[in-house]
Amino acid sequence: MTTKQVYDYIVVGSGPGGATVAKELAEAKKKVLIVEYGPRFTDKGEIKVINKLFLDKEKKLLRSDGGIYIGQTRILGGTSYVAMGGAVTPPDSILKEWKINLSKELESAREDLRVKLMPSHLIGEGTQRIIEGARSLGWEMKPTPKCVDFDKCTGCGICMYGCPTGAKWTSLEFVDKAIENGADLLLNSEVRKVLHENGKTVGVSFTNNGSTSKVYGKNIILSAGAIETPKILQNSGVEEAGKGIALDVFQSTFGYTEDVGMKNEPVMAVYLDKFIEDKGLFPSPYMYPTLTLVRNMLDFEPKKYSGLNQLRALVKTRKVKAKRLIGMMTKIRDEITGEVRTDGTIKKALTKKDQESLDEAHEINKKILLASRAKSETITRGVYESGHPCCTAPIGKVVDENQETEISNLFVSDASVFPSPLGMPPILTIVALSKKLSNYLLANT
Ligand SMILES: Cc1cc2nc3c(=O)[nH]c(=O)nc-3n(C[C@H](O)[C@H](O)[C@H](O)COP(=O)(O)OP(=O)(O)OC[C@H]3O[C@@H](n4cnc5c(N)ncnc54)[C@H](O)[C@@H]3O)c2cc1C
Ligand code: SF4
Repeated sequence: MTTKQVYDYIVVGSGPGGATVAKELAEAKKKVLIVEYGPRFTDKGEIKVINKLFLDKEKKLLRSDGGIYIGQTRILGGTSYVAMGGAVTPPDSILKEWKINLSKELESAREDLRVKLMPSHLIGEGTQRIIEGARSLGWEMKPTPKCVDFDKCTGCGICMYGCPTGAKWTSLEFVDKAIENGADLLLNSEVRKVLHENGKTVGVSFTNNGSTSKVYGKNIILSAGAIETPKILQNSGVEEAGKGIALDVFQSTFGYTEDVGMKNEPVMAVYLDKFIEDKGLFPSPYMYPTLTLVRNMLDFEPKKYSGLNQLRALVKTRKVKAKRLIGMMTKIRDEITGEVRTDGTIKKALTKKDQESLDEAHEINKKILLASRAKSETITRGVYESGHPCCTAPIGKVVDENQETEISNLFVSDASVFPSPLGMPPILTIVALSKKLSNYLLANT
């Protein structure tokens, strides 16, 4: 008779949240299983990642009912695969608001991710023009801390498709460390529900290739990201999950110059910290790859992502003179509103305060672009987008201070647990919170 395999920990999802917990627990020689929805792409980036990006399960661009685009990926390594390498430490004011001391864990996260400031030799000429434009307004931009090995970085600017040189840290690195230390990995497996008996978790059920199976563990850590984790929690009986979401919505603004552009240069190489504390605004030079730009510049919005629609977008890119285009993106700390529903829809519209912040963001972007010699008649305001969903299972509401839910031994470790949005790149904070949880788990479970 075969005995049932029972893991010490089952980690659902392999983005920064899940991969960090899996690595830390496996290094402590615990029996760990990672269950991941998506496939493994190469460490060096693949253009086909675009088919896993910004899409819902029906291959439509993922968008809230209030019209806000939402970026996330469902592959091994999660959304870190397409991130820009920004590894920003949150301001003390936000951590005070959260009532969480993360200083030790943030320090350790910066070390593990080998965070360094963007060096000047990789700053492109379009970004340099923006730095000078902002300076002429009395606004000094700072180099962005990045989890990028700058000795390997060629400055190609296509971080959004992965990294061809392997310079950018992604959570694939932590997944592989977990595997080296004995963790098991199930790919292409969608967890729908956590199994529990008498208020205690016993495992998860998942579908793989159309068939449903169960796997057993003493502790479950949900790290499926702030859109999927609340759905699994709701399906498992934690009804409060997903009642409210924040996105760090951002406003991008573009303009043509006579001479320089930001095509193919590293984006978010610098940022302005002037408006973070009092206004919650995070402005930074930004440019999309041309294929994605058509959505903002030409209002081209394919309803469904398909080969034909990509071809249509490709034809339209010829109208975007990307070599002379510069851009700014300003993130806001939007209010926690709306809902993530189990049918896959997301209810989230902008509040009056959000709308005012985005208007202010556009004015800042525009002022900087004009000071950078963009032609005023070409200033274009981009659509509302976001890439940092969070706050759908917040600490203090859906999980307790140890990130445990009302079901014993069921924990959450991803951006869902943020008590409020950061309004700036969240990866470092997610890794730090996941380290804190790992230490708790090792000491108490
Ligand atoms: C284009 C883009 C650029 C970005 N750039 C930066 C940046 O420079 N710096 C920064 O700090 N942040 C950046 N972000 C945001 C950052 O990538 C995310 O905030 C972060 O990855 C979230 O981590 P997570 O662990 O919460 O979730 P995710 O990284 O989204 O990971 C969730 C994981 O769970 C898996 N999963 C989902 N559902 C299931 C299921 N049912 N069963 C099993 N597995 C499941 C997914 O496949 C995925 O692997 C960027 C985001 C985007 C879209
Ligand atoms: S700019 Fe290019 S080489 Fe540098 S981190 Fe991004 S994708 Fe990698």
